[in-house]
Amino acid sequence: MKFTEEHLQLRRTVREFVDKEINPHMEKWDRDGAFPAHDVFKKAGKLGLLGVNKPEAFGGMGLDYSYQMVVSEELGTCHGGSVPMALGVQTDMATPALARWGTDELRREFLAPAIAGDIVCSIAVSEASGGSDVAAIKTTARKDGSDYVINGSKMWITSAAQADWMCTLVNTGDGPVHANKTLVIIPTKTKGVTIGPKIDKLGMRASDTCPVFFEDVRVPQKNRIGGEGMGFMMQMVQFQEERLCGAVGTLRGMDGVIDATIAYCKERHTFGQPLIDNQVIHFRMAELRTEVESLRSLIYRAVEDYVGGADVTMLASMAKLKAGRLAREVSDACLQYWGGMGFTWENPAARSYRDSRLLSIGGGADEIMLGIICKLMGILPGKKKKA
Ligand SMILES: Cc1cc2nc3c(=O)[nH]c(=O)nc-3n(C[C@H](O)[C@H](O)[C@H](O)COP(=O)(O)OP(=O)(O)OC[C@H]3O[C@@H](n4cnc5c(N)ncnc54)[C@H](O)[C@@H]3O)c2cc1C
Repeated sequence: MKFTEEHLQLRRTVREFVDKEINPHMEKWDRDGAFPAHDVFKKAGKLGLLGVNKPEAFGGMGLDYSYQMVVSEELGTCHGGSVPMALGVQTDMATPALARWGTDELRREFLAPAIAGDIVCSIAVSEASGGSDVAAIKTTARKDGSDYVINGSKMWITSAAQADWMCTLVNTGDGPVHANKTLVIIPTKTKGVTIGPKIDKLGMRASDTCPVFFEDVRVPQKNRIGGEGMGFMMQMVQFQEERLCGAVGTLRGMDGVIDATIAYCKERHTFGQPLIDNQVIHFRMAELRTEVESLRSLIYRAVEDYVGGADVTMLASMAKLKAGRLAREVSDACLQYWGGMGFTWENPAARSYRDSRLLSIGGGADEIMLGIICKLMGILPGKKKKA
């Protein structure tokens, strides 16, 4: 991956944004269980950070995905994962399909304000009955005149309490489960949409996560992204950016926790010597750094291939799997060397321990990534036919 001056400038812009607009408030937002998404997104939008790889016609910068990757990577310097996750939902989860397949009218109405930071959006795929098996979702959209009438519910929706619209996966037919789904934009103010109470979570405390209920929700059929029945395919493509974004977002956080732990272990003495002089500790730090650099290389390669037009389902799944596992390993290993301090709320390793746990679950759990990799390796057993 060769970074241009534009990449480096973008990195500096994100870094200044994080230092000025996010990190000074993170502790409070984590304690409050929310951050002011409209305010933060407007500031990000003014800097162009919400449309780096989106079409210029709708306010984006029209750059390739490697530039968006740099934004996601540098957002990893945030003190905690909540705000980067909500920003990632806006740029890499709720809008890629809209940017690629939406009509101009739809993109003017919903994409342009998302890029400007005037609105907050969510991606609504998972349901209470299951998030891993996307094909089994139950929410339906039935045609009535020029509208869809939507009934059902979604679960675990990031930013739902503040969102203005949701990119929602619904069943528009009774046909085969991979061909009966459609992505529809549902404005949250529409009659019949109810946002449930915020879920009390282990980590990502400043990000709101809620269930959402749809009761005879009427939206025009023109709110459909792309063709009817194409939703499953589009969501699978949209997942590629979601998974790359999730993976790359761990790197700078892991760098930071390793650096902070090394600094602490140089200062802290036990048995008459600095902790870092124990071989078990300095070797462990070297090992973790090696793992992080290996992951960085895998992600950069996946993004380079993606920018080159390749199908990166395999590499993106591997990157997401490895990132989820490594983020858990790094935060757990580092936390240990802070002793009791590692078990306190504001400790950087503790914060990483809480927030990074999600990556092995959300956006496709580790086992789902393994299933995809096995399928592409040709070793996933087929479903057994009933006798
Ligand atoms: C904080 C948070 C934010 C989220 N944000 C969003 C969002 O904005 N939009 C959205 O649509 N969803 C969101 N999700 C949902 C998330 O994507 C799902 O939680 C995830 O896909 C897992 O689905 P599930 O919780 O229903 O677990 P289940 O599908 O019930 O699976 C439970 C566990 O079983 C294991 N498992 C599942 N299938 C298999 C298998 N075939 N083989 C082996 N093991 C298996 C996995 O370990 C999995 O974690 C969010 C979740 C959380 C916790």
